[in-house]
Amino acid sequence: MSVQADILTAIKHYETIIIHRHLRPDPDAIGSQVGLAELLRKSFPEKTIYQVGGPVEGLDYLAEMQEIPTETYQGALVIVTDTANSPRISDSRYDQGDKLIKIDHHPNDEPYGDLVWVETKASSCSEMIADFWQMFPEELKMHEEAARLLYGGIVGDTGRFLYPATSAHTLEIAAKLLDFGFDAAKLNRQIDQISRKVALLSGYLFQNLEIDENGAARIILTSERMAEFGLKDSETAGIVSVPGVIEDVLAWAIFVQQPEGYYRVRLRSKGPVINELAKQHHGGGHPLASGANAKDLAEVEEIYDQIKRLCKEFE
Ligand code: AMP
Repeated sequence: MSVQADILTAIKHYETIIIHRHLRPDPDAIGSQVGLAELLRKSFPEKTIYQVGGPVEGLDYLAEMQEIPTETYQGALVIVTDTANSPRISDSRYDQGDKLIKIDHHPNDEPYGDLVWVETKASSCSEMIADFWQMFPEELKMHEEAARLLYGGIVGDTGRFLYPATSAHTLEIAAKLLDFGFDAAKLNRQIDQISRKVALLSGYLFQNLEIDENGAARIILTSERMAEFGLKDSETAGIVSVPGVIEDVLAWAIFVQQPEGYYRVRLRSKGPVINELAKQHHGGGHPLASGANAKDLAEVEEIYDQIKRLCKEFE
């Protein structure tokens, strides 16, 4: 039996299903998590399905989370979507259920879970959930809200079908979801929208981005700078892809200082593989989109030097 069939068997077996995703959620985290929750609610109305993990940080146009007591985990099935490693799972009670399933599209560095379904070639975890529906169309009932969430996740992780992980299959699945009648133009606008404060930060970024002769770029956003713009870390999501529009830029890092003093590192690339570098600095992710942490400015320099080297060696 395939792992997907095993997952469906487990879903049918349990009365309570609790679905988690990663910390600092993005549209694919929420889209895959709540898209799956909505798909299962419609397909198995007799079951109780929860979506948990705390604040959705500006993504409330997609979905809100539920709060549940720890007792609810007793005898429940727990599914985690879009999360490569267990420390990144939002709500550490994920291991309190009876059975654990991992569904993800990041490199499988930590295969936590009793059942593990990982497709690193999938554009997004939302695409995998839509594939799951397509594998069992008799049993899984897609509908407008689930389709909207999954479409949102695909749009989010592919940068509106821009990044290389966008395949012919991604477009086929997106087309099938679009048939369910949600307002895709509105959703695209919501995903793309930035606040005026973030727009001003983009202006700062364009003016101050450091770019070397091989296309390695970086910007450091100190706590003082963030306070000047009146921004929180979670609001920097809107500027992460911004340096990529500059023709000279090949790979880049945005270093955002956290209230504790260390720097969250958001790494992106048009070619050089950056997730190995991310792993060396308490992070990870995809070959061209990763995250890491730098304890101080010395580690910030070290990471930028590594990006410079990767860009130099990239033909
Ligand atoms: P971000 O810059 O936070 O949007 O992250 C980009 C990608 O890197 C996402 O696929 C994340 O799942 C992954 N990522 C970010 N931070 C970490 C981390 N600390 N550990 C592992 N993966 C991460």
